[in-house]
Amino acid sequence: MTSTLKCNYKLAIITILALLLNSIFTKTNYAANTDMKKIFCIIPIGDIDNNILQYTQMELEKRFNVVVDIGRQIEAPTYAYHKHKKQYNSTKILNKIHNLKLTGYDRILGLVNVDLYVPERTFVFGGADIKKKVSVISLTRLKQKFYDLPEDSALFNYRTIIEAVHELGHTYGLYHCKDNKCVMFLSNTIDDTDHKGTEFCSNCKEIMEKKKDILKPE
Ligand SMILES: [Zn+2]
Ligand SMILES: [Zn+2]
Repeated sequence: MTSTLKCNYKLAIITILALLLNSIFTKTNYAANTDMKKIFCIIPIGDIDNNILQYTQMELEKRFNVVVDIGRQIEAPTYAYHKHKKQYNSTKILNKIHNLKLTGYDRILGLVNVDLYVPERTFVFGGADIKKKVSVISLTRLKQKFYDLPEDSALFNYRTIIEAVHELGHTYGLYHCKDNKCVMFLSNTIDDTDHKGTEFCSNCKEIMEKKKDILKPE
């Protein structure tokens, strides 16, 4: 064996060791969830703007005291389309998210850029399945463009958090609240959404805290 070959051989071993060490450290970095917080996952359904994904991630981490992952984008929900209504059935989308069988997450929230409905309502801002602990929100009616008004990204961000917190609230067993300043108030219009804001009323907050599933890590 020539010295060049020996040298290459050593270099190869060093490279492999470096790669192994790197992968170990990368894994360690992933385990940053040291205080065992609950983990949510946001699923982009079809193309969703990165800014809103990251903003939602950051806000939910803060508000629910959890770690939030952004999952891999899934296909646009053509399977849920109703050709006469020209809208998408939110229950079908919830089932689709559930059937992804993502493990290791306490709650899953889908973000979708199409208008949603359920058979008993003309439209919905989002939906949730309490048992499956999955939720979905539509961004369509949160944009000023939908109402023929100039875009307002701050307002869009704010509305997105309201609807995300609302649907996640349902996954904790909360029902609609009579207090129109509570995030669990049922929005029939975008004005209802803007008016209710992102916070739980004291009653709803109490129910959430009793569950010991949220707001305080177990
Ligand atoms: Zn609701
Ligand atoms: Zn309330």
